[in-house]
Amino acid sequence: MEKIELKSSEAAGRSLDPSDWSQLRQDAHRMLDDMLDHLQGIEDRPVWRPPPPAQPVPLPRGSRTLADVYAEFRDRILPYTIGNTHPGFMGWVHGGGTVVGMLAEMLAAGINPNLGGRDHVPIAIERQITAWMAQSLGWPDDSSGLFVTGSSVANWIGLHTAITTRLRQQNRRHGLTTAMAANLVGYTSAAAHHCVRRGFELSGLGNASLRVIDIDEHSRIRCDQLIAAIEQDKAAGVEPFFIAATSGTIDVGGFDDLEALSQIAKHYNLWLHVDGAIGGIATLSSQLAPRLAGIEHADSLAMDFHKWSQVPYEAGFVMVRDPVLHRQAFETVAAYLSRETRGMAAGSPWPCDFGPDLSRGFKALKVWFSLQVYGADALGAVMEHTCELASELADMIGAQEQLELLAPVTLNIVCFRAKHPTAADELNRRLSIALQESGRVAPSLTSYRGRKALRAAIFNHRTRREHIVELVQLACQLAKEISADLDLSAAPVGETL
Ligand SMILES: *Cc1c(COP(=O)(O)O)cnc(C)c1O
Repeated sequence: MEKIELKSSEAAGRSLDPSDWSQLRQDAHRMLDDMLDHLQGIEDRPVWRPPPPAQPVPLPRGSRTLADVYAEFRDRILPYTIGNTHPGFMGWVHGGGTVVGMLAEMLAAGINPNLGGRDHVPIAIERQITAWMAQSLGWPDDSSGLFVTGSSVANWIGLHTAITTRLRQQNRRHGLTTAMAANLVGYTSAAAHHCVRRGFELSGLGNASLRVIDIDEHSRIRCDQLIAAIEQDKAAGVEPFFIAATSGTIDVGGFDDLEALSQIAKHYNLWLHVDGAIGGIATLSSQLAPRLAGIEHADSLAMDFHKWSQVPYEAGFVMVRDPVLHRQAFETVAAYLSRETRGMAAGSPWPCDFGPDLSRGFKALKVWFSLQVYGADALGAVMEHTCELASELADMIGAQEQLELLAPVTLNIVCFRAKHPTAADELNRRLSIALQESGRVAPSLTSYRGRKALRAAIFNHRTRREHIVELVQLACQLAKEISADLDLSAAPVGETL
């Protein structure tokens, strides 16, 4: 063979790797050290501050040094995050993240694997997490599991698998045009997350095919009403096929009775899916695990490692008890994805056979690190601690004349509000903003049974008793100030003097 000569200009290549690795190493160490300092001193900063207005910036054509862009990150991005790493953050349902998770993200990005498929150990790590979860749930060893962005997608995957199973995959070819598809109805509770409804929309069934069943005083689906609705639907000639239960409702952390629901599902031949975005991980705590009793009978489960188990975003996860049904709902044939028994294309089935994503990052690594470095017991203890704090918070609220608890606290979410004889909704709306703008403690605003409420969702492992105390004190103080303002503006003209 003739020797192939390289031109000197070609030899240099176009690689994006640094020309000066020692400078890069310095910059990289600085970034790592700064971020560790940031997390170590997280309490020295406000939870949140309003971000400055965004300026339009043209697409950068030229280059800048890493140090220069990093300085911009430090000044323009870092101070203006939503603050869920801060122990005073109690808004919505956000996990706090961990240093271990952060480091694992860096390692995952460094090896930059694509977990859509092929034969490499990162996929085995994802399967390891699946096996651990199956074990903790009491599911068969061969249950399938898949990392996705979050439970919004995980819930939809459970639903799609249920529909495809019921329609014997006819929907994959013909869509939902069969008479049978037009007749399918599912059930969930009034406390279910809105993504269950959206899942019905995405699936093509439409949200009119989702029956919303009343809840009891602990935000659990009322099984008597569920049965009545199923019977009514059957009598009307439609076909019940699916229940979406919730383990950990978004409003107060209620757990549906999975034992009862699994019996109903069995009796009527329905697919039992569990939205465990919050509580699906409760098996890690021996104290909390009993609330999931019956989960061993469920057909599919959505859960989020990025919430209560503190893994950095995103780390949603879906599990399906029967891997064959799961695969039949998603697997497709394509020449460029053909499988072998040896070489890099071995290792079938691949993760892309179980969900809509082909290119997939290594989310499993940060979960693998977290479960091993901290251990399931410590993560379970964090969950228990957040419940203890919530229950203390409920007690403190009960002891304040100005405040009232709106719902019994049974998990780690507290709905309460400041009292006002005529303008409680407006007072609490303003109070939520004032608390958030204080930079000290940040609950969110919700509505509970038609009344505006502050919601303190204690999910962060860094939150301590003193933050709970501060929330109560600051809420009382600010409520007084806002009430005075409201009363002043409500007073008839002439009486203000
Ligand atoms: C957060 C949440 C979801 C949605 O999960 P994402 O990870 O945000 O997509 C669904 N259900 C419940 C109960 C949740 O708390």
